[in-house]
Order: sequence, then C-alpha cells, then structure tokens
Amino acid sequence: MTPEGQELLRRGGQALGLDLTPHEEQFARLLELLRAGNERLNLTALKQEKDIVLKHFVDSLTCLRGGHLDGELRTLDLGTGAGFPALPLAIVRPQLHLTPLDSIRKKIEFVRSAAQALGLMQVTPLVGRAETLGRDPAHRECYDRVVARAVAALPVLAELALPLLKVGGRFVAQKGPITPEELEAGQKAAREVGGQLTEVDPFTLPLSGDARTLVVLEKIRHTPAAYPRREGVPTHQPLF
Ligand code: SAM
Repeated sequence: MTPEGQELLRRGGQALGLDLTPHEEQFARLLELLRAGNERLNLTALKQEKDIVLKHFVDSLTCLRGGHLDGELRTLDLGTGAGFPALPLAIVRPQLHLTPLDSIRKKIEFVRSAAQALGLMQVTPLVGRAETLGRDPAHRECYDRVVARAVAALPVLAELALPLLKVGGRFVAQKGPITPEELEAGQKAAREVGGQLTEVDPFTLPLSGDARTLVVLEKIRHTPAAYPRREGVPTHQPLF
C-alpha cells in the first residue's frame, strides 16, 4: 500500500473512532490479494487503491457504529461478495466468529484463501443461498448477528436475514440513502418474519461525504415456518 493509501486508512479509521495502525500490514496484504484476485476473477468494480481503501475497507467498518458487533458473536455476512464487510471486520474484531456467505463459489474461494493468507482463523466462509441456509437446522436461528452490505432492498433482506437469527439477535444492514417507502416496507416485512425495526442511523462515509444508512432490525420472536420462501422468491416477490 502506498503512503497515501495508509494515510487514508488511518484517517478513515480515526473518523470511526478506530485505531487501524496495528492492522495496516493486514490491510495492505488484503489490498494486494484483492488486486491479484481481481485480475483473475473480476471480483470488484473498484480498482484504484484509494477507492478500495475508502469504499471497501473503511466503508465495511462503518457497521461497527452503534456497538452492535461488540463481543464474541456468531455473525453471518449475507452476500459477502469478495469479503465485505467480513474481512475488514475479521481484521479489527478478532473475537467475532464470522461466516461470510455468498451464492457464487469463486467469490467464496477468494474469501477463503484471503482469510487463510491473513491468518484469520475465526472466519469460516460458506457457499450457498440465504434462502437455503434459513431452512437448514444447522443455520436457522443460530446466529447472534447478521450483517449485509449492498445486497438487496430492506424487505428482501428482512426475509433472508431474520430466519438466520436467534431470538434477541440483530440484523445490521449497511445501505446507501434509504427512502421512507423502503423503510416502511422493511418494517412490515420484519414484523412478518419475527423482527422489529430498532434503529435507523444516517451518516456520511468519512472523507468522501457519501450518504450511508445503518438499519438495525431485532429478532423478537421465532420466524414462522413459511419463511424464508424458496430461492429467488424473496427477491422477485418481496413481502411488501
Ligand atoms: N457485500 C459485498 C460488498 O459490499 O462488496 C458484495 C455486494 S454484491 C452487490 C451482492 C452479493 O450478494 C453478490 O455477490 C451475490 O452473489 C450475493 N447474494 C445475493 N443474494 C444472495 C442470496 N440470496 N444468498 C447468498 N448470496 C446472495
């Protein structure tokens, strides 16, 4: 990583109240791996160092706002893609037990090899669809937290994420700007699958000023057996 990239990482971290200096080497290695992986696998549209540092690394860590991920929590990253937010989270929060999930095998193979290269032993990547996992007793209602960045609209996410959470668990959605209509639909969907909307936290991404919103849904009762519906249905026929 260039000195400019390091400085960006440091300042981005500071703006989030995080000292990333002890983790610089791991982030530099992740940047290298991502660039090398991108040449072979076309993993992410972002190619410039400053974009990767700010819009992948720092942006991923914004889900730490509000303290929802403090502790030894079993956490699933739904639709992790090339490992975001899972890999930056694993670097700065080694106490989290992280399961990055994606339906695309080549992405998960990248996440697995990156986690190994970075010595992130607490990361267990998984290929699969959230709809299937949500019906599998080995995963249904087994997680303390689910996170998702840039995956789907809130009502879709509610149906995919809430079945995976234990009662009392929380889903933290990392979104861009969100409309009142999407929030209302998300709130209704959450209720249908056993959750409730507990927090809407609008903020700007440090150093870029881009609008972001963290939305938190809490699981307050068991999800009815009918959910999640079969693969693709939550996306094509959202609950609300
Ligand atoms: N979270 C990553 C990020 O912020 O860079 C990736 C975002 S990408 C736009 C959305 C990812 O979600 C894709 O890799 C896609 O394969 C995955 N995805 C979408 N729906 C899914 C589902 N139902 N189950 C598992 N993965 C899913």
